Amino acid sequence: MNSQTGFRFTPKTLRPVPQPPQPVARRPVARALGVHKSYWKGPHEIEVLRGVDLTIYEGEFLAIIGQSGSGKSTLLHLLGSLDVPDRGEIHFAGKRIDHLPARQRDRLRNDSIGLIFQFYHLLPELTALENVLMPAMIGAGFWEYRRRRKQWIAKARRLLAEVGLEHREHHRPGELSGGEMQRAAIARALLTGPRLLLADEPTGNLDEENGAGILELLRTLNGTGELTIVMVTHDPAIARQADRTVRLAQGRVQGC
Ligand code: ADP
Ligand code: MG
Repeated sequence: MNSQTGFRFTPKTLRPVPQPPQPVARRPVARALGVHKSYWKGPHEIEVLRGVDLTIYEGEFLAIIGQSGSGKSTLLHLLGSLDVPDRGEIHFAGKRIDHLPARQRDRLRNDSIGLIFQFYHLLPELTALENVLMPAMIGAGFWEYRRRRKQWIAKARRLLAEVGLEHREHHRPGELSGGEMQRAAIARALLTGPRLLLADEPTGNLDEENGAGILELLRTLNGTGELTIVMVTHDPAIARQADRTVRLAQGRVQGC
């Protein structure tokens, strides 16, 4: 017995006292701050977003639900810098991006944000492999793309294999099923190694089985911890696949 400490062992042999788990600092990837957006139909203003505040955290899989016409696509387009708010701010990776010149926003989107849509938006005259390569062709410019062509092709093929399309590289969209087209669109969205994937009703045009396959793929991609996903859907059953859900209603985001 050690007379000073009252323990049988000297302090050196004592195990460190277990500390309560420290809260992990959640780092925001993207934010909407007081975002307003209206569309005009002739003299009539359609107020879609009326002060949206939303923070998307690194590594999460967030679902945004809301009725048709509630402004989900509008919000996703603003987060992806495809459009700019009338008022308020959009931030990405700690920087405000909505006031950047269009060319800078295009570059940022090409490099760091992947987008997938309900209707895939693949180019019908290109093969799956060529579709996946498009962001590199557009982003890098002709000569830079030519210089690194082999590496881009290798990466595109790897991504097509990752989404389960290794046998469909040379098929055009018209020769692919809906589920396969969405898989090709996901591979295309991942080519430049984005941190954030924005998915607008990604299963909206698919039957249940193919929809489930796409959700499973998104979950797997998110599971690596490197890809943050925001998925918009009107279907609460689909939203349940996400880690967190927020609802868009009356032009604002409500947690739920
Ligand atoms: P959601 O994706 O939730 O169905 P949207 O963001 O597509 O909703 O649209 C929200 C509202 O804004 C709808 O009333 C829609 O008609 C209108 N809207 C969307 N885009 C435009 C546009 N480019 N011009 C005019 N109105 C639009
Ligand atoms: Mg929509």
